[in-house]
Amino acid sequence: MIRFEDILDRVESYKPDFDEELLQKAYIFSAREHRGQTRSSGEPYLVHPLNVAYILAGMRLDETSIAVGLLHDVLEDTLTTKETLQELFGEAVAELVDGVTKISRYAYVSKEEQQAETFRKMLLAMVSDLRVVLVKLADRLHNMRTLQYLPEEKRLAVAKETMEIYAPIANRLGMGQIKHELEDLSFRHLHARDFEELNKAVEEKMAVSGDVVDRIKVMLAQKLEENDIEGDVHGRVKSMFSIWSKLRRQDIDIGQLYDYLAFRIITPSVKDCYAALGIIHQMWRPVPGRIKDYIAMPKPNFYQSLHTTVVAEKGQPFEVQIRTREMDLIAEQGIAAHWKYKEGRVGAHPDDTNFLWLRQLVEWQHEIKDPRTFLNSLKIDLYPDEVYTFTPKGDVFAFPRGATPLDFAFRIHTDVGSHCVGARVNGKLVPLRTHLKNGDIVEIVTSPTQSPSREWINMVATSRAKHKIRHWLNAEQKNRSIELGRKLIEREAKRYKVQWRKLIAENALDGVLTEHGLPRLDDLYADVGYGKISARSIVERFVTDEQKEKGPAPEQPAGVLQQAVRKIFPFSSSATIKVKGYDDLLTYLAKCCNPLPGEPIIGYVTRGKGVAVHSANCPNVKNLMFNPDREIGVEWAEQRQTQFQVELEVLIEDRQGILGRVVSTISNLKTNIRQMEARTGDGKATVELVLEIADLKHLERVTRSLGSVEGVLRVDRKYNIRHATA
Ligand code: MN
Repeated sequence: MIRFEDILDRVESYKPDFDEELLQKAYIFSAREHRGQTRSSGEPYLVHPLNVAYILAGMRLDETSIAVGLLHDVLEDTLTTKETLQELFGEAVAELVDGVTKISRYAYVSKEEQQAETFRKMLLAMVSDLRVVLVKLADRLHNMRTLQYLPEEKRLAVAKETMEIYAPIANRLGMGQIKHELEDLSFRHLHARDFEELNKAVEEKMAVSGDVVDRIKVMLAQKLEENDIEGDVHGRVKSMFSIWSKLRRQDIDIGQLYDYLAFRIITPSVKDCYAALGIIHQMWRPVPGRIKDYIAMPKPNFYQSLHTTVVAEKGQPFEVQIRTREMDLIAEQGIAAHWKYKEGRVGAHPDDTNFLWLRQLVEWQHEIKDPRTFLNSLKIDLYPDEVYTFTPKGDVFAFPRGATPLDFAFRIHTDVGSHCVGARVNGKLVPLRTHLKNGDIVEIVTSPTQSPSREWINMVATSRAKHKIRHWLNAEQKNRSIELGRKLIEREAKRYKVQWRKLIAENALDGVLTEHGLPRLDDLYADVGYGKISARSIVERFVTDEQKEKGPAPEQPAGVLQQAVRKIFPFSSSATIKVKGYDDLLTYLAKCCNPLPGEPIIGYVTRGKGVAVHSANCPNVKNLMFNPDREIGVEWAEQRQTQFQVELEVLIEDRQGILGRVVSTISNLKTNIRQMEARTGDGKATVELVLEIADLKHLERVTRSLGSVEGVLRVDRKYNIRHATA
């Protein structure tokens, strides 16, 4: 049973001038807040924070970390708020406790190995101060030590998470002691039968071989002394989990268990390490392939040691690890071995050669921009370029910083991305351009009538989403060009009285296609639609010289083509430019003359850019570029024949599924949503919608239907219509 005084003693042993008052205050506060609560073991809850603080003191952390250990569960399990912590204990403590609480929110759902790796990175990336991770590790360690009191299902889930997430994090931070204990405790619960069996087998072996550990220890110590090498010798049974992993890895039966003893020699210098290794190899035969020099080649977590396995009396093999005192400290405590205490602040000192170790640790994934910034506050951002987010089911997706719900939607599936109209992040409705943050739980709302627009390209950060949007837009543009090209050719054919459909039926066009190197008729249409090939040049191929001489019949009265083309562009998106029959990608107002609505206009099929709309008086059209068969009749559309953008403000209850119902109600009425944004607060949300509405009747239909959706509180029309930027 750990008492508060034990913690004070431990801290005092490495930091005599520590702030005792802070710890007293934290202890009293925690005791008061957790009063009446008990753990599954039946003990008072306070036992847990006391143990966590004690473990942290074992890592020789600063008093802020110890206070956080005492307080680490008050935000999650009591009514205490972050503001209260801030008032009583200051910014640092409040932030750290908040950080620990946030990590606890994300339960790891067992997934394949790659998911575990992503999850580990996500946890580390969420943390802005390494101390949060250390407190979390101490918290997990004590919970694992008392895991037997939990029901089986919970026990297995926690053990699995520990094995796959927390033990590797401890390993990554070089904290060998904690890593081994976490692994052994997890192993005991995850593979209870194997653990029992192995434990029994080791005990039996030990009983048979008697005092083998002591005998080898004595022999080692004697030999070292004979050779004038200073060295402490320790002997032990290897950790259960490491024995078991090895048996499994090498497919060895427990009956064949030999390699379960490990010895460690701690020497004052590196030179002594190699000398000791030589002596051991003189005494016993080394097992080939088992000599490892991690002094010359440290592990990525900066573990250094010499390893060898030798065979002693009666064929008993055992492992020997040889390292210096400093290397041993790093192997056992990892990053925690590097704390220095200067002016009451935790952090490695720049003069410290070990500082390099700490810096390299942080650089394990990405370069940090300025190591000094890092050292000043011990703030870490291990993955500054990535953010880690969740699906509601718990899958983790990593994105570059700046990613939005659209990136998320395209990551799930191209169809989800293409139809994405909105998103809930952590249960709240957010605009599509919101930047995702670490730990966000993202739920995508789709609508069958939604489709990608050009603005989306600037709203996404992943190349995957950009590529998919471009692909969709290009395909869409091509479809429109095909339709436009077909209409242009059919118009021309009509004027020359050429029976175009008959030509198609008789395969009379094959020659034309081959000549232009086009595989299909649609490709020809597309090229005509893009203005690469003129419709007249195609049609004239099937015209007699006499007809050619006569020239084409005068153009049909305006309207036929326009009406046909309008079908291709069922929804106009621009509120300011209304060119009858054309819109969007294929129509634009020529910059040279910028025609005003109402003024006579002429369309011109450009090369690859669609139809340029010029003023009929524009000198450019008249002189330079004009080519009669690229001309196309256009006129200003009457406003009422087009779709209007109407903005609605819908007040809804902010709860599960409601946004989906709103969206499907609108799309069931064959109505396009141009924009959707939402603000939330007080359990309610205000959704701003920009809809494409044909007329008042249409609007009334939409308003009425929305009003009857369950959870919709009010529907209002807003009159400051936003113009889409074209
Ligand atoms: Mn806890």
